[in-house]
Amino acid sequence: MNYLSRKTVFFVVVLLLSYGVRSQELSERDNPEVQRIVPFQVFDNLYYVGARWVSAWLLVSDQGLILFDSLYGDLTDIAIDGIRELGFDPDDIRYVIVSHAHYDHIGGARRFQEEFGSVVMMTEADWNMTTEPAEYQEYPIPIRHLSVSDGSTLNLGRTRLRFMQTPGHTPGVLSTRFTVYDNGYPHDAVLFGGAGLNFSGVERTEMYINSIERLMQLENIEVNIPNHPDSGEIFERYEILQEREDGDLHPFVDPESWDAWLDILMRNALGKLEREREAAN
Ligand SMILES: [Zn+2]
Repeated sequence: MNYLSRKTVFFVVVLLLSYGVRSQELSERDNPEVQRIVPFQVFDNLYYVGARWVSAWLLVSDQGLILFDSLYGDLTDIAIDGIRELGFDPDDIRYVIVSHAHYDHIGGARRFQEEFGSVVMMTEADWNMTTEPAEYQEYPIPIRHLSVSDGSTLNLGRTRLRFMQTPGHTPGVLSTRFTVYDNGYPHDAVLFGGAGLNFSGVERTEMYINSIERLMQLENIEVNIPNHPDSGEIFERYEILQEREDGDLHPFVDPESWDAWLDILMRNALGKLEREREAAN
């Protein structure tokens, strides 16, 4: 083989290998056997019913259940089974709050509408995404239920959710602020609905930065409830929680790490803005 054809073979092999790795990663993400974990309680009123790589959170009120994000495909069974395993009835899910209209958060929403009569809520901007071609993976499009606007609230029994539209990752990322209880003691929690920088354009990056600024201005946030476990060390914190003794702090109550995380997101976003501006010129 001459040098050139050897080089060609080398590149083809590298290409095939990297394709193989990527498709394997994808199938591991989509594989419910790989993704299934035992659901667990984090606060008096909050449970993790998500998968390994993407979250679903169950908030329990005195008037029914609220589910944050719906997983997708076969992974949605993880949430439904988890809710039952924890002793709750999925028929009691009053609302499914979708953090943004990417398949990994919205993909199971239609099932909750059809099987359990849940009301699906997201922002108008992200409802509009459901009528456009899906960005990463197709999913069953939910029936348009409720639109949530910035600053609105939802009360269910004594539970109150406060909504913010924090666009960037998608045009209508929905973030929710609510109270979690640790042995009856309240803590302010935020679920930031879309932290990933996998989008493009100067304008969207500016929207994202503005969203981070607004989150930074929220006072007294003590708990980060991330919609991907990696964004808030969910499993590491849960390990600590299991070994917690009387008098120990709750490992999810960690205002410093919330602030530090937002600082990192801001730094990365400012770097992205610079690159987006250069690319636009
Ligand atoms: Zn997303």
